[in-house]
Amino acid sequence: MKIDVFTLFPSWFDWFAGQRHVRNACAGTLELGFVDMRATTPLTAGQVDDTPYGGGAGMVIRVDVVEAALRARYGTDPREHEPGRRVVAMAAGGRQFDDALANELAAAEQLTLLCGRYEGFDERVNEHLATDVVSIGPYVLAGGELAAMVVCDAVIRKLPGALGHADSAIEESFSEALGGAPEYPHYTRPVDWHGQRVPEILLSGDHARIADWRRARSAERLEERSKS
Ligand code: SAM
Repeated sequence: MKIDVFTLFPSWFDWFAGQRHVRNACAGTLELGFVDMRATTPLTAGQVDDTPYGGGAGMVIRVDVVEAALRARYGTDPREHEPGRRVVAMAAGGRQFDDALANELAAAEQLTLLCGRYEGFDERVNEHLATDVVSIGPYVLAGGELAAMVVCDAVIRKLPGALGHADSAIEESFSEALGGAPEYPHYTRPVDWHGQRVPEILLSGDHARIADWRRARSAERLEERSKS
């Protein structure tokens, strides 16, 4: 899989790219790139934004700047979406990111993430250059970099070889294996911590009963979430 992150602040990703599971994935099938949108701006003096039509505070990232960055990277007209590539504009008001969307994006051959700044992108980026507009939650961040890292992280850990144990990513919170429910609780040593004991069933060695117990705890958590 190929993932490209388009940003005005590529150095934000230096730390992310150095993390073990990301390096593992890159040693396998992942090609991860970071593209500085300012480097290809068609405007003078590195300009990438402009004042909003209709007035109001803040600046808006220009559509021709994003177009130029995409065109320079892929050598094609970015208004014509290539099959196999998802182009995701990060936006607070977009489709809520969840495990199902992480699976969808992980199944794509190529994933392009566009990080906004300031007041965000000119709407024509969302409408004509992106295939998806995605939010990581109902709150506003200063920029799309952290949001893109969240999406990258959730997608990358689904790729072969990213995690130490391939099974780790199968039975997890919100996965199909758990019917979309949160994961059950985990315990490790010590068995007794200030009188708080690990549930006896987990010490029983009875794997069928343990699996039932875990499913039940997972279902309970789903029920609790639906009430809150
Ligand atoms: N004016 C925008 C609004 O009210 O929705 C907020 C712009 S925000 C300051 C700048 C950029 O951060 C956005 O263009 C987007 O790329 C990113 N961003 C902020 N919050 C986000 C979120 N919850 N999910 C995804 N991206 C977000």
